[in-house]
Amino acid sequence: MEVKKKQIAILGSTGSIGTQALEVISEYSDLFEVEVLTANNNSALLIEQAKKYKPNTVVITNEDKYKEVDDALFDLGIKVFAGQQSLEEVVEGENIDVVLTALVGYSGLKPTIHAIKSGKNIALANKETLVVAGDLITKLCQEYSVSIYPVDSEHSAIFQCLVGEQYNLIEKIYLTASGGPFRGKLRNDLLDITKAQALKHPNWDMGAKITIDSATLMNKGLEVIEAKWLFDLKAEQIEVVVHPQSIIHSAVQFEDGSIKAQLGLPDMKLPIQYALGFPERLKNSFKRFNFLDYPNLTFEKPDLETFRNLDLAYTAMSKGGNMPCILNAANEIAVAAFLKDEIGFLNMSDLIANCMEKITFVPNPSYEDFVETDRQTRILASKLL
Ligand code: NDP
Ligand code: MG
Repeated sequence: MEVKKKQIAILGSTGSIGTQALEVISEYSDLFEVEVLTANNNSALLIEQAKKYKPNTVVITNEDKYKEVDDALFDLGIKVFAGQQSLEEVVEGENIDVVLTALVGYSGLKPTIHAIKSGKNIALANKETLVVAGDLITKLCQEYSVSIYPVDSEHSAIFQCLVGEQYNLIEKIYLTASGGPFRGKLRNDLLDITKAQALKHPNWDMGAKITIDSATLMNKGLEVIEAKWLFDLKAEQIEVVVHPQSIIHSAVQFEDGSIKAQLGLPDMKLPIQYALGFPERLKNSFKRFNFLDYPNLTFEKPDLETFRNLDLAYTAMSKGGNMPCILNAANEIAVAAFLKDEIGFLNMSDLIANCMEKITFVPNPSYEDFVETDRQTRILASKLL
């Protein structure tokens, strides 16, 4: 019997996660088919991808590039749309089974809400969606019976450890962190860090924003908040452990003290394929981990004084309400400014802390409150630069 292929919409197909997801889809073309591809600016790659994967629809959010994309794809019968709002509309397409959210930052929130409200399961790479509005998103998932399959490697690890454990309570989880390129450095060492130094991650090759977040440990902070919502945990149940080799992708400790961990060589294609293929494990030929190549797997406590962003994320999570939204918006402005050489490496934390103090706290935010908080925080952060 022929199996119906899963129809996948990839939001952000030209990015690091998006392109790796397309490699996975090529590998399992008997299981998956591309229904939607989207890019922000990279029209050339979007056109190339569309010619190869023949989706039903593509979106280029930068409207200036619409004509170029439409001219290139018109003869293939591929529908082309432009603008941010088109992202919200295309995820509702009735053929789509799974929406892979691989956009960067706050831009992922609204399309994800639309996808959930139209009953699509979510393969979630865009962690900022859960950071900004985790409470709203998890409630919507319950209301519309939608599942979230985590793509982030740590959360995929925990998700994998929880298979078969539905009646067993989690005592705590250990989120592992590589420590980034500046592990072991002190504040004084980081005063003159350049973006070129910060963009060199020791273990993972990723988009620019998450690479800077990894260097400041904000990425781990965002992941702590992401884990809280995905696995319904309290702050004290989430411990970050620095593990420079990135072999143990994270671990779960149960109430009997037993710990389950998921291990493997660092390769995002594995969590991507697990999220798309769930509940099945798909056979692949990726390089296998060999214990004897890694006789020294090591573990350290994170340095919260040097890497204040992780501490700020814990604070934002404990305060709740719109505080993680403030943290996220200020961080997006800080990272963009750092990438334009407008602020120093350590000033990013100062800017975020400043916004967390000054923006009005809303304890029980609605969707509109998140939009307003994001807007106000961006204005304030840009002024404070
Ligand atoms: P990239 O910067 O490599 O790619 C981002 C994608 O989103 C591109 O297709 C880009 O289009 C598009 N995009 C960017 N901004 C917008 C916008 N405002 N509106 C619409 N589209 C936009 O990012 P990554 O793939 O590295 O990361 C994607 C998400 O996955 C992030 O949330 C990140 O935290 C998360 N993640 C990434 C990991 C990784 O290994 N890369 C690991 C775990 C999580 P264009 O190319 O045209 O600019
Ligand atoms: Mg991660």
